[in-house]
Amino acid sequence: MNSIHPSPGEPGFGTGASLFIDPRTCIDCGACADICPVDAAQPVEKASAEDVERNAAYFAGQEPLDATDLDSWEAPTYQVWGGGPRRVLVVGAGPAGMYATRELLLRTTARVTLVDRLEQVGGLVRYGVAPDHPSTKQIMQTFERILQHERVRWLPGTDARELPDGFDAVVHAVGARRSRRLGIAGEDAACTAEDFVAWYNGRPGAVRPVELVGPRAVIVGNGNVALDVARILLSDEARLRDMDVSSDVRRVLAAGGVKEVVLLGRRGPGEAAYTDSALKELLAAAGDRVELRHHARPTAWTSEGLALDDGTTIAAGNLFTAIGFEGTPIDGLPFDPERGIVPNVRGAVVGRPGHYVAGWIKRGARGGIGVNKACAQETVMALVSSSRAPASPGS
Ligand SMILES: Cc1cc2nc3c(=O)[nH]c(=O)nc-3n(C[C@H](O)[C@H](O)[C@H](O)COP(=O)(O)OP(=O)(O)OC[C@H]3O[C@@H](n4cnc5c(N)ncnc54)[C@H](O)[C@@H]3O)c2cc1C
Repeated sequence: MNSIHPSPGEPGFGTGASLFIDPRTCIDCGACADICPVDAAQPVEKASAEDVERNAAYFAGQEPLDATDLDSWEAPTYQVWGGGPRRVLVVGAGPAGMYATRELLLRTTARVTLVDRLEQVGGLVRYGVAPDHPSTKQIMQTFERILQHERVRWLPGTDARELPDGFDAVVHAVGARRSRRLGIAGEDAACTAEDFVAWYNGRPGAVRPVELVGPRAVIVGNGNVALDVARILLSDEARLRDMDVSSDVRRVLAAGGVKEVVLLGRRGPGEAAYTDSALKELLAAAGDRVELRHHARPTAWTSEGLALDDGTTIAAGNLFTAIGFEGTPIDGLPFDPERGIVPNVRGAVVGRPGHYVAGWIKRGARGGIGVNKACAQETVMALVSSSRAPASPGS
């Protein structure tokens, strides 16, 4: 989650006696406590008051989170507010919807109806996070526990459009799943990260999106998702055996014949969106088979490979695009097509009292799982602190 600091590259890394956990991005999965060889990572209830204070002091005055409007995030005080909404609908059971539900249970006495068009909770944690990152997926256990709460009604396999009305408030946490496009000739033959990731993670309805043609693949994009795709493509049989993927996925990847990957970024290495730790992980797994190309823009995908704006062509059998995602409009709500979000003020949808947004549909498709926790807390704070007219979805 990139929650533990200082991390490699930050001042103080490897020299200080302590590491600190950012409460804004920590997802409470407990993976650090499980893995720490010297029991240094402690839940806040067990840590000494002095350590808790030192941790808080380390993050005081630090950079705003994710450069979004979450800068004024404050740790919630959890005073249950009984005078608020009685019935809240949360649409989408990805991280944002699950954190919003948890926050509603902690802060209000409302009954929460939680729906997802899929049969399982987790959103992109289940169907996006790479299968060689099982500890990241541990947060799903927390999500499953939230479903057991007596004030939660969980309706899996329910699309928001089929919902009844009559809720005091609706939190839309539907994510942002449309792949951004390069806008080059031949792009339709490319495989989007969305399709490839959905296939290797076994999302219901996902089929193999591409025939893998070795020995070289080009991935356009310089974020962590591009690095995930590269790592999975280059995984050998031993790595694949350890991953939670279907035997079909394992067989196709092992036989695929992709031996090298070129990662293409239009800006320099300093501007790349991936984290240092993700790059290190890729290079440790397959460093000699990865080429990082910067300051290059693709112009066309042809039978020869990927043509670039400098007149050269990267010979390759497959093109993958991992240049980000954007939200899509929600019936009855305003939409900002430039940013791919529902316009909102701290989660309250502009001009639609009773409607709220959380997660990627609120802030755009950026930031890891943990950022959605602070984001959902901000939204629920807006919800509990405003009085509103009864709302119904799409009305
Ligand atoms: C490929 C990939 C890998 C990632 N890996 C990591 C990682 O390793 N670590 C990390 O910290 N972050 C990772 N992220 C980022 C992280 O997944 C996101 O921050 C997070 O999932 C966004 O949460 P969300 O709830 O807004 O959206 P989502 O996770 O997309 O959840 C939205 C939910 O809404 C449901 N939904 C949508 N429309 C409807 C509808 N009409 N009716 C009912 N339900 C609906 C969807 O089925 C889904 O379950 C990754 C992202 C991607 C794309």
